[in-house]
Amino acid sequence: MTGEVHYHVVAENLDGELLCSDGFTWPGAQGFAADLISPPNGVTVYEPVRAVWIFEGGTPQCPFAHGDGIPADEEAASGFLEQLVQQPPYWPA
Ligand SMILES: [Zn+2]
Repeated sequence: MTGEVHYHVVAENLDGELLCSDGFTWPGAQGFAADLISPPNGVTVYEPVRAVWIFEGGTPQCPFAHGDGIPADEEAASGFLEQLVQQPPYWPA
């Protein structure tokens, strides 16, 4: 998906850690964010979040992880995450 416009959902958990999703379409990102913000009944969310951002990735490349190699990519993306969380969140807790 790298190279095409897509969206990553970034969430801050209650410990202040930032979690980054894989790449989604816009409706997919909105759905994923909605599930984080308000989990549907019967769905176990891995952890509660206090803020959610949606990052637009795409051309020519994306700083966030796709598929394999996530640990290395997460390190490379940490600067982008720090900048992203300075912006108004998609959903504040
Ligand atoms: Zn991406």
